[in-house]
Amino acid sequence: MTTHQDNIFPVFDSILQRKDKESLLRQKAVVIWLTGLSGSGKTTIAIGLEKALNSQGILTQVLDGDNIRAGINNNLGFSEDDRKENIRRIAEVSKLFLNCGVVTINCFVSPTNEIRQQAKEIIGAEDFLEVFINTPLEICEQRDVKGLYKKARAGEIKDFTGINAPFEAPTHPFLAIKTEGKTVEQSVKEILNKVLPLIKAN
Ligand code: ADP
Repeated sequence: MTTHQDNIFPVFDSILQRKDKESLLRQKAVVIWLTGLSGSGKTTIAIGLEKALNSQGILTQVLDGDNIRAGINNNLGFSEDDRKENIRRIAEVSKLFLNCGVVTINCFVSPTNEIRQQAKEIIGAEDFLEVFINTPLEICEQRDVKGLYKKARAGEIKDFTGINAPFEAPTHPFLAIKTEGKTVEQSVKEILNKVLPLIKAN
């Protein structure tokens, strides 16, 4: 039986390799995967981190939940299957950037170990830097940047992470950042100090 897979002929030998692109850019590509509750600070930190890395000559791309869901994943909802497909596509897109030598900074709640494990497997463990943006629920709810906690408490959003859907804290993150009582700049600096030596070519 032929499947649609039989008619696919990926080209790998004639295209430039990741290492060629990394040496052009003088950097090593990684995926910095920020996980945490809504309002924990993922996007704010990613924006600051991207600026800081760019000023060090590092080419980056921020991948953000809302942007991805408005674009490539605009046909996906929040069912179990759709959440998995959402992460699968994000991980595959991240891999394209990796193969282009670009550092991606990913901002996704990615609430369960299973989901983050799935992303890690697609991206490859050695290129996947899991950063837990560790902000207590009470603080996220106080910030309520997008007014979503209020809606979730009012029963207008079902399966909202932290309120009526679980968030599993990563067990062995590359880095965990407590944002409470810190400035954005301090949080960014903590990540920068740990990732820059891995990214910067000598
Ligand atoms: P997320 O992307 O995780 O949903 P956002 O970045 O959209 O979260 O919102 C986080 C909010 O918390 C922003 O308004 C930001 O200014 C504020 N904030 C306060 N302190 C910090 C900190 N140390 N790190 C990151 N964000 C912080």
